Amino acid sequence: MEIKGSTRIAIVIGHPIKHSMSPVMHNRAFRHLNMDCSYIALDIKPEGVEYFVKGLRYTNILGVNVTIPHKTAVIPYLDELSEEASFLKAVNTIKINEDKLIGYNTDVYGFEKCLEGIDVASSSALLIGAGGAGKAVAYTLCKLNIKRLFITNRTEEKAKDLIRSLTNLFKGEISFIPFGKLESLGIMDIIVNATPLGMEGIKEDLDVPSSLIGKETTAIDLVYNPPKTKFLKIAENLGAKTLNGIKMLVYQGAESFKIWTGIEPPVEIMEEAIKGYL
Ligand code: NAP
Repeated sequence: MEIKGSTRIAIVIGHPIKHSMSPVMHNRAFRHLNMDCSYIALDIKPEGVEYFVKGLRYTNILGVNVTIPHKTAVIPYLDELSEEASFLKAVNTIKINEDKLIGYNTDVYGFEKCLEGIDVASSSALLIGAGGAGKAVAYTLCKLNIKRLFITNRTEEKAKDLIRSLTNLFKGEISFIPFGKLESLGIMDIIVNATPLGMEGIKEDLDVPSSLIGKETTAIDLVYNPPKTKFLKIAENLGAKTLNGIKMLVYQGAESFKIWTGIEPPVEIMEEAIKGYL
């Protein structure tokens, strides 16, 4: 794609940033739709975040994605936050609207797409992890009126803080469960791994007791590399439906694309780009 004077630029900021898959996915979408746009990754040191975000309103930048470690740091310099970004205190998408900067969190939309076809309101779910992604998963499940949600996390206090903030907003039954007591739960309808356990380069795997997994279970691993983690392999062998993190990754990106351009994103093309890259 030729970059011309008229080309609009979208940017993902992070530190480090060179492993980001967003440029691959968005540039393929721009090319597919023949748009005069390009997407780049920019490494910004934490002390530079304020200057970068404050300067955005004076530019013709198409939009910005924000990744680790800047998702919370950008918030003080934005004019408005979506409901999701406000609850999660994390922004992954910035829209430059005339001279207004609006922060969104599209991980919630990305995860909601993973739940398509599941009757969430009559389901029991176990969430493993209460970091940034875990919070987005918990928020989405509660927003969709999950019947019962159990959250486990290595650092108990973090899961309990999350549960407190969720119970202020939602009515469902949400409780903490220590990892060592998972077996007492019985078969779950939905199990989500929102930790890096099982990821390429991480030595430990996630060991979910098999008594929690049955044919009615949907096992979702937010890890996408490798595409089939040990957790997903075990769940598949026990007859469960399985889903890796690629769908969430693609749909959170697709939603950013739509927020910036107002155009329906070519989701299949974006997914193909990610799979090819992986
Ligand atoms: P994060 O904010 O750093 O949170 C990490 C979570 O994993 C915390 O709950 C942490 O527990 C737990 N954890 C980390 N190492 C652990 C270990 N050795 N044993 C047990 N628990 C451990 O990270 P994140 O942004 O939530 O990301 C979590 C995972 O989701 C990553 O693999 C990431 O790639 C993936 N992810 C995927 C998508 C997608 O679109 N597919 C989107 C976002 C994230 P403590 O609280 O005790 O530290």
